[in-house]
Amino acid sequence: MPNQPDVMEKLVSLAKRRGFIFQSSEIYGGTGSVWDYGPLGVELKRNLQERWWNSMVRTRDNIEGLDSAILMHPRVWEASGHVRGFVDPLVDCRNCKKRFRANDPKIKGTPGTPDAQCPACGMKGTLGEARQFNLMFKTFMGPAEDSAAVVYLRPETAQGTYVNFLNVQQSTRQRVPFGIAQIGKAFRNEITPGNFIFRTREFEQMEMQFFVEPGTDMTWFEYWKDQRMLWHRGLGLAEERLRFHEHAADELAHYARAAFDVQFDFGGSLGFQEIEGIHNRGDFDLTQHQQFSGKKLEYFDQGANKRFVPYVVETAVGPNRTLLAVLVNGYREETVAGETEGRTVLGLHPALAPIKAGVFPLVKKDGMPEMAKKIADDLRPAFAVFYDDSGAIGRRYRRQDEVGTPFCITVDGESAAGSSVTVRERDSLQQERVSIGSLKEYIGERIAA
Ligand code: ATP
Repeated sequence: MPNQPDVMEKLVSLAKRRGFIFQSSEIYGGTGSVWDYGPLGVELKRNLQERWWNSMVRTRDNIEGLDSAILMHPRVWEASGHVRGFVDPLVDCRNCKKRFRANDPKIKGTPGTPDAQCPACGMKGTLGEARQFNLMFKTFMGPAEDSAAVVYLRPETAQGTYVNFLNVQQSTRQRVPFGIAQIGKAFRNEITPGNFIFRTREFEQMEMQFFVEPGTDMTWFEYWKDQRMLWHRGLGLAEERLRFHEHAADELAHYARAAFDVQFDFGGSLGFQEIEGIHNRGDFDLTQHQQFSGKKLEYFDQGANKRFVPYVVETAVGPNRTLLAVLVNGYREETVAGETEGRTVLGLHPALAPIKAGVFPLVKKDGMPEMAKKIADDLRPAFAVFYDDSGAIGRRYRRQDEVGTPFCITVDGESAAGSSVTVRERDSLQQERVSIGSLKEYIGERIAA
């Protein structure tokens, strides 16, 4: 039995209606599992990415930022193991033409045998044998579509970091242990995309590779496990919805010495799923790139006068999947004491909320709209605000609750005389009178936490 309710369908509809997430190329019938981020969605995603960047790069002196290109030399993917190893076994149903991962638990029997049953159409004996399917998107560089010009859309950002390891180390004069972080697009031709933005074919990653001296890797691995779990809690994700999942020996990727996933409980039948992977990759990647490129990727430790290939502890999180976790975690419908109409609330952490404050005149007269507009204009350079004077004030509050706006500022009959407004807090519904001159500080303090 799932512990948490399934809110996905409601979220998909809210996300579209309020401009968080739209289906890609919708007017053409949509593109399979590709999504566009609307005005509120792009703000939320940026806030999430900025929070990661601040916590990983800006506030640490031993992590450097990088933005490497999506297209790389094709040999990179031979060295990394992706050309040969980045495959999922898949099976096709001859009857309904649906495609499944061979290890899909819904398949009964062994694909390729007469008693295997298709989980979609229910026919027996129509599932073919498992075939290996490479998840990398292939394309061509330059005008000639010959094999010499084949390149891949990167399936992860990490390789762009490994091939730049010495460029970054030498240009910044960092000493091991130190890390390199980047945020960027990745592409995987997933066999079974779905669950809204949970698994898509085009997505983003926020990855950090931490280079350490061999022998110290497990200590750093534990350190980063703790740090990353703290970060997810800091987003406001509920304690009981977060857990670690350790990869058993048969689950470990070819490069990994140890791996833990941070899992979030998405509710319903999806339940606990990975949102971040923390991996001890040993010296696999740098050694492979040394072999394939013929260039040394060693670190010279001047103090100890020795050279070595560092081990890597990687933290790899998806902003899209984390954004979905944040939405699922925050979505609630509730009744309000003394009111007949309930409300839908996105209980987003104020730092993540796309709009920090709604600004309203109580009524459209007596100079209130002008005053509210001026307040909105004054606050706008500091944070995202939304001016709204249409409809009843209760409606305007509800519209902001539904998109997670933590504060609503209302100019009322007392505002002009006392130079003050009411500030309503989304979750407690408490209203406080605040002087107009201190609004920036009042809200600024509360969204920075
Ligand atoms: P999964 O097992 O779910 O396919 P993975 O273990 O292959 O994920 P990693 O390669 O460790 O994922 O990538 C790190 C993070 O990137 C994941 O934790 C996830 O947040 C994100 N991610 C990976 N694949 C996708 C995808 N197809 N769509 C959206 N996000 C993804």
